[in-house]
Amino acid sequence: MSASTDLPLTALTNSRLANGKGCGGQQSAMSQDQKLSGIGSELVFIQNGSGEYLSFYWSKAESYGLLVEEIVGHQMSETLSPVEPELYLNRCGQVLEDQRPARFCYLFRYAEQYLLFDLVVSPIMTSHGTATTVLVMGSLLSSSTDSQAFEWPEARWNQAVDFSSCDRYQKLRAKIIRKIRRTLDLETIWQETVTGIGTALCLERCSICDYKQSGSPELQVMASYVQTGVSSLVGNQKLILTDRLEFSQALTSLEPVAMVGGPGENGQAMLVVATSYQDQPNGLIILYQGKRYLPQVGNAHQGQWTTEEIEFVRELADRVGTAIAHATLFAESKALAEQLQRVNADMLEKNRELELANEQAEEACRLKSNFIASTSHELRTPLNGIIGFLKLIQDGMADDPEEEAEFINEAYRSALHLLDLIDDVLDIAKIEAGKMEIDMYPVKLEEILRDVERKTRTGAEQKKLYLQIEKPKNIDPIIMYGNYKRILQVMLNLVSNGIKFTKEGGINISTEIIRRPVWVGNEQYPGMVKVRVADTGIGVSLEKQQQLFQNFYQVDGGRTRTYGGTGLGLAISQKLMEAMGGEMNFFSMGEGLGSTVTFTVPLFHLPVMVND
Ligand code: ADP
Repeated sequence: MSASTDLPLTALTNSRLANGKGCGGQQSAMSQDQKLSGIGSELVFIQNGSGEYLSFYWSKAESYGLLVEEIVGHQMSETLSPVEPELYLNRCGQVLEDQRPARFCYLFRYAEQYLLFDLVVSPIMTSHGTATTVLVMGSLLSSSTDSQAFEWPEARWNQAVDFSSCDRYQKLRAKIIRKIRRTLDLETIWQETVTGIGTALCLERCSICDYKQSGSPELQVMASYVQTGVSSLVGNQKLILTDRLEFSQALTSLEPVAMVGGPGENGQAMLVVATSYQDQPNGLIILYQGKRYLPQVGNAHQGQWTTEEIEFVRELADRVGTAIAHATLFAESKALAEQLQRVNADMLEKNRELELANEQAEEACRLKSNFIASTSHELRTPLNGIIGFLKLIQDGMADDPEEEAEFINEAYRSALHLLDLIDDVLDIAKIEAGKMEIDMYPVKLEEILRDVERKTRTGAEQKKLYLQIEKPKNIDPIIMYGNYKRILQVMLNLVSNGIKFTKEGGINISTEIIRRPVWVGNEQYPGMVKVRVADTGIGVSLEKQQQLFQNFYQVDGGRTRTYGGTGLGLAISQKLMEAMGGEMNFFSMGEGLGSTVTFTVPLFHLPVMVND
């Protein structure tokens, strides 16, 4: 180790020297001791890059049972060894590479002892300008037989002090500011601030509170940094301004308020600094020292705050205050923009709803006008008939009593037609106004079919048409769920249309059970009866079929003149069936090809069928 000749340490390889008793005699040992006291350090040793001790001196070696001969010439791993040798060697390697000294705390182990040293590691320069060995000087901070007794995280022991930096705090502050300037997120700003300050000053705890000048005495803790092993206070913790004078003092004066630590939990050193923007406080940073060790100042400042520390926090608080103000402004404008967007979207939605309601109202109005126009027109026709025939009689226009009886008969038929029409119009009006109340109860299909047959057979026979009624093969009676009068009304309407629009052939009524559960309102029914009324009559062209269910729709004027009718029957029938939970459809292959109308009615219960 040629470089060691630059220093008065060559003789340190002698173990007895290290204990203050030189093996070459008292005189020699004394002179080495003097040389060591000249260095002024309790611990001095030289190590090469692989961690071998080349020389060693420690004034407290004896009291810790350290045998120097077991150290010098040995690798660290065999003797006094750092608990994290790799990290330690890396740091020494860095010193050799940078050729710059470094200071850090390190935990060593010797036999059963754990020794925490504060170390300054310097490169030993050779005349060639290179360095392969380090000179380590230091002092013991604390010792224990229990490694857990050292509550400082290992990262903290290894924390290095860069002596080349003229202002360590300036660098740390710049680093924290860089982090908080990068964001407009308040949470990040709060967290980066407390973590930055907490780690930089090795604090036990550091919290930041949001301060709004609302006059509320409560301060909400927004983020906290806590040293490992210390219980966290983050959450919905609140601080009461009136509880601690120093809080309100820091907020009103905008000057740091430092409390020096005393004995006991509550007596710990505390520093309170307000963050501000344009001279208005907007937050409070609270630093709790707790038990700490600062590598650069040692234990000396336990319980105290240095001017540099206070300045560090004060300047940082200024920047944090600005960052908080900007982020708050950003958050407020973002919330405002979102609120505006929501209001806009609501208004658009309301507009759309209004437009839709308007369209629906216009459509309803148009339909009503059409309805009234066509209704009054339809009512006028039979009424004119009644008036016309009665006038003829009144004016004595009948040539004979027979003709007069015929006039009376015509007037009577017109009156009946008018009554039908009025009934239909009232039905339609009631259904459309939602006022048609239809009582629902079990109805036997058999009975309805019998009634239909009774009321229509004569009409069919008069036109020489057949009337076939096919019922499903079943044992039980088929019980539907609906209104007898209304189902009968629909069936009569369909069968009489069939008779009316058929010249040859006839009408076939068939029924079919559909075993598929259906919902009518909140009730479920086990199936449906499908009724088909098919005729061999004039049919309806495909394009006109769609309109058949519209009020007053009749296929054409020619037909109306020939067959009469109101054009309301199908519309009423479909609406009635739908009101009872069924549906109605019209099918025709085209003009002259007959027509089929189907409708469904819910089944009260499924009948037992006969198998073929
Ligand atoms: P109405 O028969 O009183 O005119 P509907 O609503 O019952 O009124 O029928 C509307 C129109 O549908 C009828 O005018 C007719 O043109 C056509 N239509 C209805 N049923 C049949 C059918 N079975 N065959 C041919 N056309 C029909």
